[in-house]
Amino acid sequence: MILIDGKKEAASLRLKLKDEVIELKKKFNNVPGLTVILIGELAPSQIYVRNKEKSANEVGLNSHVIRYPNDVDEKTILKKINDLNKDNSVSGILVQLPLPKHINKKKVIEAIIPSKDVDGFHPINVGNLSSGYESSIPCTPLGCYFLLKKIEPNLSGKKAVIIGRSNLNGKPMAQLLLKENCTVTITHSKTKNLKSECLMADIIIAAVGIPKLVKGDWVKKDAIIIDVGINKTDEGIVGDVDFEQVSKKVKALTPVPGGVGPMTIACLIKNTIDCFKRTQTN
Ligand code: NAD
Repeated sequence: MILIDGKKEAASLRLKLKDEVIELKKKFNNVPGLTVILIGELAPSQIYVRNKEKSANEVGLNSHVIRYPNDVDEKTILKKINDLNKDNSVSGILVQLPLPKHINKKKVIEAIIPSKDVDGFHPINVGNLSSGYESSIPCTPLGCYFLLKKIEPNLSGKKAVIIGRSNLNGKPMAQLLLKENCTVTITHSKTKNLKSECLMADIIIAAVGIPKLVKGDWVKKDAIIIDVGINKTDEGIVGDVDFEQVSKKVKALTPVPGGVGPMTIACLIKNTIDCFKRTQTN
């Protein structure tokens, strides 16, 4: 079984991106800038933002984190996003989710100008992705896509089963795999007989949030399994796939942690650089 090493792949992507930033600096006398807005004190969000900032600095981006207390009002956030939209030193804007309940997520996502939407959540980017046009692509599915391509460069005709239909993971993942000519099935909480769907899959992307949902007898022998899940349990962080059982059967599998997670952050850096490049004229 191939253990898909997301840490290694992410490190190698960051190195490539670092070289690219050096070249961009030579060419444009400027580097891409990433601004992250963090509201409140949620521990996981603090960790994610710290890791994003660390990676952005490592690659040579001009990165900033703007922090607000949990009770900041929506107007202040929308005004800040509007200012950042107009700021030429900012190539990418990310508002860390989840937001406090009194702030409307849809309004915040739609306030970010699509050309700086490094998360790829703006409806314009979602539409462009599903139409097959150039767009920012949500970082986690993009990371899954790179890991998959590493194992199987030609995905054409493969049957892919995606577990989970969120805007963050399942839906954009489906678009990426369709573009690669996979036959895609999106499953969700109302799907009947998930096991039999999975048993037909050459590729499974599990993005559910249920610890060890995918069992050893749910998978084909030569399947490639990408485990997006991050679940806190008594035995530590585990994925949506029963690693012990599934790793004995399949061709390739991502571990949790150390699989999709590191790629997500590297893809955020890539998206920021791509946003910067799209705004340069020469
Ligand atoms: P979500 O809660 O928005 O969506 C979960 C999806 O799973 C829903 O579409 C739901 O219909 C489906 N689902 C629920 N129960 C099901 C069942 N029994 N069978 C089939 N489908 C079922 O979650 P999300 O934001 O997409 O995140 C999913 C998981 O991925 C979580 O564990 C989250 O922590 C993790 N995650 C990881 C990364 C990363 O970088 N590795 C990034 C984002 C999310």
